[in-house]
Amino acid sequence: LLDADGGVRATVFAEMSALAARTGALNLGQGFPDVDGPSAVARAAADAILAGHNQYPPGTGIPALRAAVAAHQAARYGIGLDPDSQVLVTTGATEGLAAAVLALAGPGDEVLTLEPFYDSYAAVVAMAGARHTTVPLRPAPDGFRLDADALTAAVTPRTRLLLLNSPHNPTGAVLRRDELEAVARVAVAHDLTVVTDEVYEHLVFGVEHVPVATLPGMAERTLTVSSSGKTFSFTGWKIGWVTGPAALVTAVRTVKQFLTYVSGAPFQPAVAAALTDPAALAWVDELVVSLAERRDLLAAGLREAGFDVVRPDGTYFVLADAAPLGYGDGVALCRELPALAGVVGVPVRAFTRPGSVAHHALGSYVRFTFVKRREVLEEAVTRLARLR
Ligand code: PMP
Ligand code: GLN
Repeated sequence: LLDADGGVRATVFAEMSALAARTGALNLGQGFPDVDGPSAVARAAADAILAGHNQYPPGTGIPALRAAVAAHQAARYGIGLDPDSQVLVTTGATEGLAAAVLALAGPGDEVLTLEPFYDSYAAVVAMAGARHTTVPLRPAPDGFRLDADALTAAVTPRTRLLLLNSPHNPTGAVLRRDELEAVARVAVAHDLTVVTDEVYEHLVFGVEHVPVATLPGMAERTLTVSSSGKTFSFTGWKIGWVTGPAALVTAVRTVKQFLTYVSGAPFQPAVAAALTDPAALAWVDELVVSLAERRDLLAAGLREAGFDVVRPDGTYFVLADAAPLGYGDGVALCRELPALAGVVGVPVRAFTRPGSVAHHALGSYVRFTFVKRREVLEEAVTRLARLR
């Protein structure tokens, strides 16, 4: 299980954040904001502690948060959910994803993900004893794209789960409606269950986020995972949720009982209020505007420094290809980058499987986050110009 080549290994974020701390380099590696979310939301959590919300909350999450998640999905996407049977609160999306995979896949099953993929996917598939298969996203002038034929080719009779992610970490791709329709066709044709990681659902820049559960034939086979961390810039609170058909949610809940049992009591009322508070949602809209500006700043700076950049339509991240600068190995470059330029990034290879198509194609790519203050990004861009 503890596998150097995939499976379960030390997270890349630990190594790269330690490198940033040791060298004093600007950390554009791990994606977390350097400014907290709305103070009214933070105050609600503090008030909840002082009001005595400090013992085990209900295992499925407090009713107010389940109702708020259902109301949010209804208002934003027209998705109807019964808060009692179709919403489960989890300890971040990370737990929701892990519990879903552990509940629904096991030895003999294949779990198909996009590649590159968020690093916890390979680990939880390995923990479930299932096989991890992938379909590559390919860089195109308009962003990383999913090829429907490649997706169809990646499905086998053993494929049990399709673990999707849009907006996508690390590429910043936001899957278009036509790409998701192709996913839906494949899922229906092969009777797959889809687990979709939509933690960046709000963080899209001038494009539409389409929840795959809204496409025909998908609501009954899709578990949607999201979280408050990215939406409200409280990544340390670890309040997430899983929504979908009652039978699938029950399966995830059964596993969740033995992973964490319940999730952070005082954060739940605060997130419940935020999800339904127009002021908090207006704060998110402003975050999105400012994030798009910061994406542009970092992307332009990386281009200026000599990288090839694929402009992301969402998330916290931009991918930069270091090949034009003469660096073929992104892993080696990321280890040297603090000394060369005083900046930390994450090699995209950390989000691939050794030997895969994406592993080779993205070998010289580095992921940088732009969810940092403007002045930090401006300083990073100035430093990266030294690479030329
Ligand atoms: N999925 C993706 C794609 C992510 O980028 C993150 C952020 N770390 C997570 C899941 C985990 O979210 P959470 O912090 O809510 O567990
Ligand atoms: N989602 C963030 C990233 O990809 C944080 C990851 C983590 O801390 N595990 O950088």
